[in-house]
Amino acid sequence: MSRFACGRINALPAYEPNPAIFDCKLDANENPYPPDSDLRALIAAALADAPLNRYPDPLAHEVRRAYADVMGLDMACVVPGNGLDELISLLMSAFLEPQECLLTFSPDFSMYAFYAGVRGCRVVEKAKPGYRLDADLLIRSARDCGAKMVIFSNPCNPTGGLLPQRELARALGELDCLVVADEAYMDFAGESALPLVGQYDNLIVLRTCSKAFSLAGLRLGFAVAAPELAAVLMKVKSPYNLNVLTQLAAVPCIRAEQKRRENLQEISRTRDWFYRELCALEADGLTVYPSAANFIYLETDGAPALDAQLQRAGIIVRRFGARGLRITIGRPDEMRAVVQIIKTGLEQMS
Ligand SMILES: *Cc1c(COP(=O)(O)O)cnc(C)c1O
Repeated sequence: MSRFACGRINALPAYEPNPAIFDCKLDANENPYPPDSDLRALIAAALADAPLNRYPDPLAHEVRRAYADVMGLDMACVVPGNGLDELISLLMSAFLEPQECLLTFSPDFSMYAFYAGVRGCRVVEKAKPGYRLDADLLIRSARDCGAKMVIFSNPCNPTGGLLPQRELARALGELDCLVVADEAYMDFAGESALPLVGQYDNLIVLRTCSKAFSLAGLRLGFAVAAPELAAVLMKVKSPYNLNVLTQLAAVPCIRAEQKRRENLQEISRTRDWFYRELCALEADGLTVYPSAANFIYLETDGAPALDAQLQRAGIIVRRFGARGLRITIGRPDEMRAVVQIIKTGLEQMS
């Protein structure tokens, strides 16, 4: 609170990430595996001669080229950001006048409404029946509220639900507004809208290196869109938003495709095992949602008690409302510990 802040800023609740004091961090959907020693050696070599006295490349050519190569994109479509968070904020400034309407869905990533609130736009938050998003709901909701932009995560954070590419294509064909697909977790799911960027001039796809690429600490994300839209974002971003260390370190990491594939397979295997174990518990009132991402969402009246028991064991997960828990997929040993605690906890409650 400050008498100098804009009224709408004073009214906004602050985003409060957990302080990282837990042994086992399963709350932020980070990748449990850091870049391996070979990759770390490449990063160290790239950083050794970093020209720290100079401003970084404002157009981040090498990073964008690497990402465009790996994803099969035209570099003119790729806009780099200091994490996706920066790009989400930029989208609001670049494309929404104050009072214009942003459509979001609930539950979804809370930062959309946050940045729209900072900008002062009108946010319409539409509930998803059964937590499912489909083309009809997208089209109908956007028309009903006269949205200038609609944004959603796919796969969805926190539920892990997936909107198939053909559903998205159908919505894009019918809608006139900007459609932003936040694919922070799409590397785990393989239904990306990136191939649609060339066909639809109202599509913006958001990607991050924080999850599947194991680089949350580096702060690097991308917006991918038709060149005219991409140029708007390039124009409004601050010129040196990617620091020189990030630019140098990112290139070998982005190009390490084979390692990434193996990493994604390992995490998917662990996720599928964890999901099956949770489903096998068959506890009364426990709902476990299938996930296309690197986390599992569940609901139970016992969520507060389970959360407390996990915390006592040094494990932090993410609470949603009174009944929801979102658990990031960590290493197999970590997930075995989580299953044990949930199993024991639910038995004690019944
Ligand atoms: C993690 C996450 C982001 C933020 O990514 P950064 O690049 O680390 O800022 C964006 N969107 C969703 C849905 C996320 O879960």
